[in-house]
Amino acid sequence: MHIVHIAVEMAPIAKVGGLGDVVTSLSRAVQELNHHVDIILPKYDCLNLSNVKDFQYKRCYFWGGTEIKVWFGKVEGLSVYFLEPQNGFFSAGCIYGCRNDGERFGFFCHAALEFLLQSGFHPDIIHCHDWSSAPVSWLFKDHYKHYGLSKARVVFTIHNLEFGAPLIAKAMVYTDKATTVSHTYSREVSGNPAIAPHLYKFHGILNGIDLDIWDPYNDKFIPVPYISDNVVEGKRAAKEALQQRLGLKKSDFPLVGIITRLTHQKGIHLIKHAIWRTLERNGQVVLLGSAPDPRIQNDFVNLANQLHSSHGDRARLCLTYDEPLSHLIYAGADFILVPSIFEPCGLTQLTAMRYGSIPVVRKTGGLYDTVFDVDHDKERAQAQGLEPNGFNFDGADPVGVDYALNRAISAWYDGRDWFNSLCKRVMEQDWSWNRPALDYMELYHAARK
Ligand code: ADP
Repeated sequence: MHIVHIAVEMAPIAKVGGLGDVVTSLSRAVQELNHHVDIILPKYDCLNLSNVKDFQYKRCYFWGGTEIKVWFGKVEGLSVYFLEPQNGFFSAGCIYGCRNDGERFGFFCHAALEFLLQSGFHPDIIHCHDWSSAPVSWLFKDHYKHYGLSKARVVFTIHNLEFGAPLIAKAMVYTDKATTVSHTYSREVSGNPAIAPHLYKFHGILNGIDLDIWDPYNDKFIPVPYISDNVVEGKRAAKEALQQRLGLKKSDFPLVGIITRLTHQKGIHLIKHAIWRTLERNGQVVLLGSAPDPRIQNDFVNLANQLHSSHGDRARLCLTYDEPLSHLIYAGADFILVPSIFEPCGLTQLTAMRYGSIPVVRKTGGLYDTVFDVDHDKERAQAQGLEPNGFNFDGADPVGVDYALNRAISAWYDGRDWFNSLCKRVMEQDWSWNRPALDYMELYHAARK
């Protein structure tokens, strides 16, 4: 089958959040099943081209009153076509938030379909993502379906319903199949007016993580390679390296890591509370996060300064985006906290487990589907063929956070053998794309019937 993704993010060259990870890792998993996958992406000025192999100019075409240059390259083994319109739409140095994003991405969707048509591509599936490539669905149905691309079917994935609801609602009408990124989130949004009329074609498929990109045995950003058998040694070395790098006290504290966009969705007030609670319990805390909203960013800069003077040896807030540092935190932390208000899937808890860090999460969306509490969820885990793997809580308030975080930190202090065996166990759980990729293939086939 030939699948073309039309997307505005792709890890690691143009990633803002989970959408970028999913485009790359789902494509790789499907390609490994011997299907033909292409990706079409805007050629942003801010692309990280050092991660693009065999980058070359292909050709140009005219559409929408401008010349569009087409570049090609390989990213993580995937074929990517980069569209560079000469109207400057993608040369403002950022992915989102420059000029009118709706106009820029609408133009890109149209240009991408035009590229497929003019290049004589005949994909079986055109897969678009979120509000940013939602227009593909109706542009295709209104026009391109009747001109040369008639074989294709459109699949639309909602990574987050919070953004661009009107565009998502419209795409739901036109798409052949729609997905979102976990079963629980699909249930949570099923009453939304954008989704409710289309439940017959709407499915929840859990995201996975790419085991080659997230691999503690083969990770240039951590000091000692490890698998589940030497998880204790590997994580000890990573914790020391993390403490050293951030200037924290080098001693064996329970270390809570937080890696997140700092937005309302991620439970900012719960994050702040958890920082103070961890310090009270004599733990260490490392936060890596950046806030698109300058007011929130400022707020955290103030908190970082305050903590620097009051708890400089045990707390560090790194208010930036730093992929290499994220690897060291996943490896060096004992716990990764994800207290989201809502979470369509969440990748951080899955990556945490891959590195033998114990997730402490709020029970919502994909966090509910992937984290099973050691004290409460044995049966629910076993129904999935799993053992419990973390700590969770319900209420979006300090009491909720305390309930999970206190049990987690106590478990660390009280039974190190038990805790170490938990780390080993979570590392051995399979949160890869193996299963979800098969689910997507089934969906692609169903879309073609
Ligand atoms: P979302 O897409 O809502 O931001 P996800 O959990 O689906 O949340 O994906 C977040 C991804 O971005 C993860 O791969 C996480 O490691 C990464 N990430 C988030 N914030 C940062 C940061 N400040 N630095 C590096 N990586 C980050």
